[in-house]
Amino acid sequence: MHTCHATACEVNVPPEMFMCRRHWFMLPKRLRDKIWRHYREGQCDDWQITKAYSEAAKECVRFIAAKEGIEPDVKLYEILEPE
Ligand SMILES: [Zn+2]
Repeated sequence: MHTCHATACEVNVPPEMFMCRRHWFMLPKRLRDKIWRHYREGQCDDWQITKAYSEAAKECVRFIAAKEGIEPDVKLYEILEPE
C-alpha cells in the first residue's frame, strides 16, 4: 500500500494504483492513458521509473492540484526521475 499521489491526499491505495479513486477519475482520460502506457510492473517496489512515466505523473499531479487550487507537490518525481 502507498498513499495516493495527488498532493496532500492521504488515502491508501494498492501499489498498482497511481491515485485514489476520487483523484484518478478527476484526471482526463488522456492523462490516465498516459500513466498506463508508461507504467512498469514492479516500479513501486524497486523505485525505478522511466522519464516518460515521471513526466506523465507530474502532469497528473499538477492537473489535480490546479483543480483543487493548491500548490502541486512533485518532489518525489524530481528525486526519482532518471537523468
Ligand atoms: Zn487521492
